[in-house]
Amino acid sequence: MLFKNFNLSDELLKAAALLGYEEALPVQEKVIPALLADRDVLVQSKTGSGKTASYAIPEIEKIDWLGNEPQVLVLTPTRELARQVQVDFKSLGAYKRINAVTLFGKQPFKSQIMDLKQKVHVVVGTAGRVLDHLERGTLNLDHVHTCILDEADEMLNLGFIEEVTKILSYLPAKCTMAMFSATINDSIKEIAETYLHDAEVIKV
Ligand code: AMP
Repeated sequence: MLFKNFNLSDELLKAAALLGYEEALPVQEKVIPALLADRDVLVQSKTGSGKTASYAIPEIEKIDWLGNEPQVLVLTPTRELARQVQVDFKSLGAYKRINAVTLFGKQPFKSQIMDLKQKVHVVVGTAGRVLDHLERGTLNLDHVHTCILDEADEMLNLGFIEEVTKILSYLPAKCTMAMFSATINDSIKEIAETYLHDAEVIKV
């Protein structure tokens, strides 16, 4: 399906075209409408499938530019993925002037706190550092409407489950949850059953 056949803004279509995206990849065809409708999703997909744009596109559409506090939270297992997700939000959100910041370890708190004092639409980070900011009171998740757990199986493999569940307790009750994982094993199913509500299960 062509992107122009989704109900997307001109700003987004322009940004997607600039990146050379014309046709939606299979994961995007399924995830974009679900997230536009604020449905929770559990998605089995690998890196390289186009999963990042599948959640970045609908989330960018739902962001209220005027809001100063973060509206979307993305948790990733690694710094590298966090950076890539930030780049994707910024490029797809260029014409909507979306600001995405990264929070991960081994970086000074001071510059991250400065970043968080600006208008921030999207926070992308690794669990340990995101939780540190929450416990220090330097990150406010009260306005987050969607939380994405990217490469959830990797986060579990790396032992981040405790931090992730603590972070989830800071989210507003009415928050859309999207979980992406290359494999859907029992631990992933258990988390999905606990934190996702009436989720659409998508396999590509
Ligand atoms: P990801 O799975 O999110 O890491 O994306 C894999 C690659 O696919 C990235 O280089 C994206 O820029 C690219 N990509 C994502 N969506 C599309 C699309 N609809 N058309 C062409 N390339 C895409």
